Amino acid sequence: MKFAIVSKGDERSNKIQATMKQYLTDFDLEYNEDEPDLVISVGGDGTFLEAFHRYVNCLKSCAFIGVHTGHLGFYADWVPEEVEKLIIEIAKTPFQIVEYPLLEVIIRSHNTTKEIRHLALNEATIKTTEGSVVFDVEIKGDHFETFRGDGLCISTPSGSTAYNKALGGGIIHPSLEAIQLTEMASINNRVFRTIGSPLILPKHHTCLLKPVVDYSFLMTIDHVTKKYSGIKSIQCRVAKERVRFARFRPFPFWDRVRDSFVSDESRKSH
Ligand code: NAP
Repeated sequence: MKFAIVSKGDERSNKIQATMKQYLTDFDLEYNEDEPDLVISVGGDGTFLEAFHRYVNCLKSCAFIGVHTGHLGFYADWVPEEVEKLIIEIAKTPFQIVEYPLLEVIIRSHNTTKEIRHLALNEATIKTTEGSVVFDVEIKGDHFETFRGDGLCISTPSGSTAYNKALGGGIIHPSLEAIQLTEMASINNRVFRTIGSPLILPKHHTCLLKPVVDYSFLMTIDHVTKKYSGIKSIQCRVAKERVRFARFRPFPFWDRVRDSFVSDESRKSH
């Protein structure tokens, strides 16, 4: 098996990266950054996003696993103290694959017929540097609303615990193939009206955003921000591709949600 390791770059993560590389190579696994079967991320969820985008073009053939060197991760479930155990598991045990849905974003522009396609593991957001964004929002080909406000966030189920949650979106179990559209400070008065609630769209229900006033936006795809000009439309839907996680033990989603947002030691002792 071929493996690659993406480190956060701090001293602790780099040390774990070096240890894993050495031991896994000793077990006759091949370190191969170009065509890995297994991508190991060492750092936080931010590092996992980095690793995902580095290998986004080979999602069919590679599986991901994360070691978290900070606080509990949503994508990284192994702690540094377990690294030896993980190395043995990787070397000796065939792993199970768990797949999560992704978001597909297609940007079409006025200046060219060429489309720009992105896949997001967490979400895409659309904002502007000046004033408000104004979009006609279409769902499944029908006009739904005209949104005016700070921006919109379209997230995956596994990204629902990230930016989406801060915007009041619901937490969606990643076994559900859906995307969620959440508003950032919509303007609601007698002239402008939006639904106000997060919308959860199933697979094949495409959401199309058509700029009304300005055609330049700041878009984020996970951790990467870019400015786009001359935008005709932004199409969002559940991607046909999925991200594959290597699992050597259960990693229940609701346990992660509870441990990250609800439980603390004092409560556990009562
Ligand atoms: P960052 O601003 O340095 O960190 C964002 C935080 O979100 C980090 O604590 C990160 O965890 C955490 N995170 C990432 N994915 C998550 C997930 N699926 N569930 C729960 N928490 C998650 O940015 P970054 O490290 O480059 O990560 C980019 C992500 O930041 C974006 O995809 C977006 O979701 C999130 N973000 C959130 C807000 C907000 O909540 N108001 C605003 C902007 C962006 P680690 O510390 O483990 O890396």
